[in-house]
Amino acid sequence: MIYTDTRDSSVQVNFKTAVVNGMNSSTGGLYIPVEYPTLPKSLLNRTSEPSFREIAFESAKPFVGQEIPQGDLQEIIIDAYPFNAQVVPVDLKTYILELFHGPTCAFKDFGARFMARVMSYFNKDEEQPLHILVATSGDTGSAVGSAFHNVPGLDVTILYPEGKISPLQEKQLSTFTGNVRALRVKGTFDDCQKLVKTAFTDSDLRSRFRLSSANSINISRLLPQSFYYTYASLVARYRSPRDNKIDNPDIIFIVPSGNFGNLTSGLIAQKMGAPITGFVAATNSNRTVPDWVATGDYKPRPSVATLSNAMDVGAPSNFERMVSMYTLSQLKQIMASYWLDDEGTLKAIKNCNRSTGYIIDPHGAVGWQAWKDIRSVSMENLMAGITGNPEKPGLTPSLPQWADKVKTSALGIILETAHPAKFGATVYDAIGREPPLPDRLERVLRLPDCSVAMGKDYASFKEWLVENL
Ligand SMILES: *Cc1c(COP(=O)(O)O)cnc(C)c1O
Repeated sequence: MIYTDTRDSSVQVNFKTAVVNGMNSSTGGLYIPVEYPTLPKSLLNRTSEPSFREIAFESAKPFVGQEIPQGDLQEIIIDAYPFNAQVVPVDLKTYILELFHGPTCAFKDFGARFMARVMSYFNKDEEQPLHILVATSGDTGSAVGSAFHNVPGLDVTILYPEGKISPLQEKQLSTFTGNVRALRVKGTFDDCQKLVKTAFTDSDLRSRFRLSSANSINISRLLPQSFYYTYASLVARYRSPRDNKIDNPDIIFIVPSGNFGNLTSGLIAQKMGAPITGFVAATNSNRTVPDWVATGDYKPRPSVATLSNAMDVGAPSNFERMVSMYTLSQLKQIMASYWLDDEGTLKAIKNCNRSTGYIIDPHGAVGWQAWKDIRSVSMENLMAGITGNPEKPGLTPSLPQWADKVKTSALGIILETAHPAKFGATVYDAIGREPPLPDRLERVLRLPDCSVAMGKDYASFKEWLVENL
């Protein structure tokens, strides 16, 4: 497969170059495949339940092409996914897609573990180590740290905003030793991301070290996230006639979004032929994308802190990829958008638990409330021309093509992006008890913190890199 660049369509690179470079340092653009291959009909039309790894393999194959032989790709996938995505029914029109069964209890394990193995595969004949720089607003750091920990030939530096992630998240990314280090930056996630982006465009630094990224800007993290969309849509279509008495469901994915990597992966799965009718982009008060959908003006802004902190992104990097795939008016046909504030998020956790028994985390809760509002009145209102105040939380006044399916054949799949125990204090505030901590999280709490303090200016960051890499 050939990859091009969101800012310069004359760029043509292979998969390895796209993965190793992370982004195109000469244009500042992001790599995207030149085309989206369709999955085999035999897989899409199968009348039995699919296997996650099989879908992963079939989806990855065309993107990797001849660059990783099929036997090696198979091994990468088996090694990356000793866990699964779980499709859990919570009511007659809703599944929750649990994406937290990996080692760090968040969906980012799906992308990070594939990326780590692909990078290690491509690095096996190199003499110099590859240095991965990664900015995190919460869960990326631990997923990447865990996925790369002790992988030979690879070094990881994680940057996170001090005091802006949960204590457990901090433990999860600051307790690695050896090839994985964490910097706690006095600033916001956007500051961390800027430091990383500046490093990538610093030709002096690049001449000294082999640098790569591991954010959702890396195409090898984005592509594997499409696996679970395809998987879940096929599972839901298979189970729905018996689960929900809906024969040919119109599957709508509700995606709690920050940097919009996850949503972009869903768009990729849809382009590859997965039976997906539409999406709901659900954000917290960082509503850059809902505002864009509402007004047509894209205004990136500083992020604000919320309870769903892994979505605290004011300038989502994958916006550039979304608009390279679709125009705004095309996207509005496929995608509804919605935002929710912290007060609404707490209520959503409580109401979800009360009405379904499910304990949802603050990120998934934003998605849960979006789907609930869409199903109750807000889509109907929109169809009748009644719109809410866009300054208030709720559904963006923009009608997707599937609006009239909501009351009939639509089936919502809400992405539960993290285990609720990662946000125990917030869940406690909402429902009066904390979800039990999975074993793999309890273990990390006992490890000592090894993070290093860092200012948000590029000069100190560069100096540290030069001394420590
Ligand atoms: C990263 C993250 C998100 C946001 O995903 P994007 O791909 O950045 O939109 C949502 N929820 C959780 C728990 C996350 O860790």
